[in-house]
Amino acid sequence: MFIAANWKMNLNKKQIQEYIVHLENFQFNDRVKACIFPSFIFIDYLSSLILDKSISLGSQNCHFETNGAFTGDISPYSLKQYGCEYVILGHSERREQYNENNNFIKKCAHSAIDAGLMPIICVGESIEIRNSGNAINFIKSQIDECLPENCKDIYIAYEPMWSIGTGIMPNNNEIEEIHSLIKNEAVKKNIDTIKVLYGGSVKPDNAEKIMSIDNVDGTLIGGASLNVKDFLAIYVAAVKQLNVIS
Ligand code: PEP
Repeated sequence: MFIAANWKMNLNKKQIQEYIVHLENFQFNDRVKACIFPSFIFIDYLSSLILDKSISLGSQNCHFETNGAFTGDISPYSLKQYGCEYVILGHSERREQYNENNNFIKKCAHSAIDAGLMPIICVGESIEIRNSGNAINFIKSQIDECLPENCKDIYIAYEPMWSIGTGIMPNNNEIEEIHSLIKNEAVKKNIDTIKVLYGGSVKPDNAEKIMSIDNVDGTLIGGASLNVKDFLAIYVAAVKQLNVIS
């Protein structure tokens, strides 16, 4: 299981320090990975705070070029140098607000892999697409167009846009349907290992239910990850779920 905290453009230095203090005596489980995605400016600071803890570090985005004239962007190689292991690509906020398209995301994924980062590629339909009955085809084409060639391992986050930050969620069958579709599409592309995370209004009170759904390998959490107690409660729900299946 993989539990990802996407802090977006939130938390200042003091708040990050307080957050990490709360994790100090927490017993992380080897089979449930926790990963925090702070804003770029705090990656180094967070890395210095979590040096000896079982938490991984990730970035919320990266550019597809190694270096060059890309003002305001960040190279996957720089992220790697600062201790990142994962990078979120194609979050719906990037797609909507910065016009990132499938082709751009695929190039970023290639470059992230070359730099030694694991991409977490976000896919998800709008409410209009869901209501028109086209969610399956839409996700299929996102997977087809975003997934890098010749990659062995990949993470995908299924994040229905209408569920992000709204408190509204797909039902269990809808989540299972899309997660198994994503896994089947990845098999067609000869990917050895694919992990599919669910993202969208994950909270402590629904986390156990979400993680009990077939083909859910973890969660990508936005709002609830800003509160360390909520984040840990979701983490504990993942551990409980693992104990149920094993
Ligand atoms: C997100 O933005 O990736 C997300 C899942 O947000 P939230 O958990 O707040 O719905």
